[in-house]
Amino acid sequence: MAYDGEMFELPELEEKSFSETVSIITGGGSGIGASVAVRLTELGSQAIIVDIDEEAGKNVAASIGCQFINFDVADLAAWENLVADTKENLGSLDFLCLNAGIGSRPRGSSVEDDPIPWILPNYKNVLAVNIDGVVYGTMAALPIMEEQGSGSILVTASVAGIRTQPPDPIYALSKSAVISFVRSSAPALEGRGVRINALCPGSVDTPIQPDDRRLAGRPMSPPEEMAEAMGKILLSDDNGGIWIASSSDFPVWRYDFASAIDGPPK
Ligand code: NAD
Repeated sequence: MAYDGEMFELPELEEKSFSETVSIITGGGSGIGASVAVRLTELGSQAIIVDIDEEAGKNVAASIGCQFINFDVADLAAWENLVADTKENLGSLDFLCLNAGIGSRPRGSSVEDDPIPWILPNYKNVLAVNIDGVVYGTMAALPIMEEQGSGSILVTASVAGIRTQPPDPIYALSKSAVISFVRSSAPALEGRGVRINALCPGSVDTPIQPDDRRLAGRPMSPPEEMAEAMGKILLSDDNGGIWIASSSDFPVWRYDFASAIDGPPK
């Protein structure tokens, strides 16, 4: 990425950083979401995994002893039920990781393949998962977090939402949209005692990556590195922050849109 941004101090994670907290992690059945669920559980949070893939979600939940709920993040009614049940059964909702996401390219396709034929067939579904899943999750959680006067929401966006992503224009569009949502909703959430930030990973070694990238030996971060960064951002005081974590840059740093808009670094 051409612009280095500014490095901010994030809090260090400690053994009990998340004790007596409740967290929901979408897409927790695989990849980054599974690593986040493992890490937050280790640090004391009572985690709830949400995933559309029942088997994957159940397996991760069983391995760490947390709850699993099987639904599509683009289903607003399911979100409202989950938040109501969480409040009734666990009493609070402290952390929400809106992480579930998909690309428009079929699994097994190559990054060299022309993306145009996949746009219309997959457009609505990608936007539903990657955008509705974020907006519905935020709106469902907001009443309980506002009532508590606290809550921290973290969206898994992507560097594809900041720079271009020619192999998957619809994915890039969806990630730009959620970055914009985070930046623009932050002031209204702050007035309600709630924070919202986004993490933009670069390439992470998960099943979402096309096989040919992996076969080509492209450097990829382990999902555990994303989980570490996400734990720190969830606990930080930041609001409206867009954080980058990619193998070719600093471990995690805050993107400075203002300077990027003002012009190139001096
Ligand atoms: P992954 O495919 O391993 O995990 C995604 C999970 O989301 C899966 O378990 C899947 O079943 C679940 N999911 C998909 N649609 C869903 C839906 N409608 N409702 C509920 N769950 C659903 O991929 P990952 O790399 O761990 O991706 C996690 C997030 O990170 C995504 O938002 C992705 O866009 C983002 N991201 C990943 C990379 C990367 O290189 N891996 C880079 C940048 C951003």
